[in-house]
Amino acid sequence: MSLRRTKMLCTLGPSSCSEEAIEALILAGMDAARINFSHGDLDFHQKVINRVRSVSARLGRPIGILQDLQGPKIRTRKMQGEGVLLSSGDQTIITTDDIEGTAERFGTQYSELPNDVHPGELLLLDDGKITLRCLEKTGETDIVCEVLIGGLLKSNKGINIPSGGLSAPSLTDKDLRDIHFGAQVGVDAVALSFVRTPEDIRALRRELANSKTRPLVFAKIEKQQALDNLDEILSESDGVMVARGDLGVEMPLEQVPIAQKQIVTRGIEQGKTVIVATQMLESMITQSRPTRAEASDVANAVLDGADMLMLSAETAAGEYPVEAVETMDRIVREIESSDWLRYWRSEEKLLTRISQQHQNVVSLVGTRAAEELRAKAIAIYTTSGDTAKLVSGYRPKVPLIAFVLGLQEQRRLCFSWGVETEIIREASGFEGLLSEMNDRLQEKGPVKPDDTVVVLTKVPLKPSQKTNTIHIHTVTKPIL
Ligand code: PGA
Ligand code: MN
Repeated sequence: MSLRRTKMLCTLGPSSCSEEAIEALILAGMDAARINFSHGDLDFHQKVINRVRSVSARLGRPIGILQDLQGPKIRTRKMQGEGVLLSSGDQTIITTDDIEGTAERFGTQYSELPNDVHPGELLLLDDGKITLRCLEKTGETDIVCEVLIGGLLKSNKGINIPSGGLSAPSLTDKDLRDIHFGAQVGVDAVALSFVRTPEDIRALRRELANSKTRPLVFAKIEKQQALDNLDEILSESDGVMVARGDLGVEMPLEQVPIAQKQIVTRGIEQGKTVIVATQMLESMITQSRPTRAEASDVANAVLDGADMLMLSAETAAGEYPVEAVETMDRIVREIESSDWLRYWRSEEKLLTRISQQHQNVVSLVGTRAAEELRAKAIAIYTTSGDTAKLVSGYRPKVPLIAFVLGLQEQRRLCFSWGVETEIIREASGFEGLLSEMNDRLQEKGPVKPDDTVVVLTKVPLKPSQKTNTIHIHTVTKPIL
């Protein structure tokens, strides 16, 4: 079967946290698992992460783990019974007091809410299903609201304030605990929710500075403010997520499609990982087949050039987790094999990234050489994985295989478009390395003697040396 180049990120949850379920998702094509730290406790997360690691080792398939931090999401406290019914036209009060909620008055944990919201502003509850308008504030604790659009309000639902400049810190105490936990268990990437400014990402990086594992850092773009600061946020991050769930509540939902295009395009231009998320196959939470509109949504994200597509409740809590992954895999492969696929390349933008200039030029020219020569593969020797990520950023038509020294680098590359990985022993010289790559490429599959392969490597072969060499290699028979 041909390679699938767009990666798939699956959220694990009640429908997919057993060893058997994780194995089934991996076999269906999951490249990385998302652990949502808005739900569940650390004990549970630890168990799930251990299971992913052990199934992945048993199957010999590297699987990245993404820790998704809750960030400054505002939520309601507990409601009475199964929830309370807010009726349009009625008044209700949101309070910072710790009470069990009724239709007349319910609580939020976010103690600054009365300071941050002003009369006239809208508050959207439960992903925008319920709309309130702030009428007035009484005392230090209470916000009197009019119910514009009512509905059943359950415990622990999100509160979005689209117009709001919230004073909540970007990393809550819970986030700090979770970051520490994630660094200890060695997650491969950390995503921060409700990013507003590049400083939010810098703060996350400061927290991770002393961790041994140095996970990738992704910014979830789910506020207008983040869109306004997109370029600066991108330059501080290793990647971004188009978090359409909250973005579609925080801004008019008709503006989300163009926002998505902007985030994806600018992310690729800056050579960052781009994840498209939320409701991609939403109807598969309860149905075995998606809607045609959803199939089209997946297809368009592939055509736009995203690195990775995410499944949320489809795999975490749905009735058809494996079918959802299989369906996404089929759609992606179909689109990738079609003539409509354009290989997005923003050569000028990438070339201006001075910090990695040599590596970057080698990556770009290597990609061009491979395409020009109709090479069977681009093979990259990369100790940090950085060069593979740069080459992936140019979306080469030619298969891309990264030879890395360890599992950690292998898992970090699970998030990058079109990158396959192989673990290789540390070589002492160029000739030895080349001969090892020559043989391993043939074991892997489509490469045979006399084929051309473009090899990107470094001379001398020491870890501190950045990629500086393009070698055009004619494949020879393996020496047995
Ligand atoms: P969430 O993030 O699922 O953690 O809310 C994704 C989104 O908002 O789309
Ligand atoms: Mn969100």
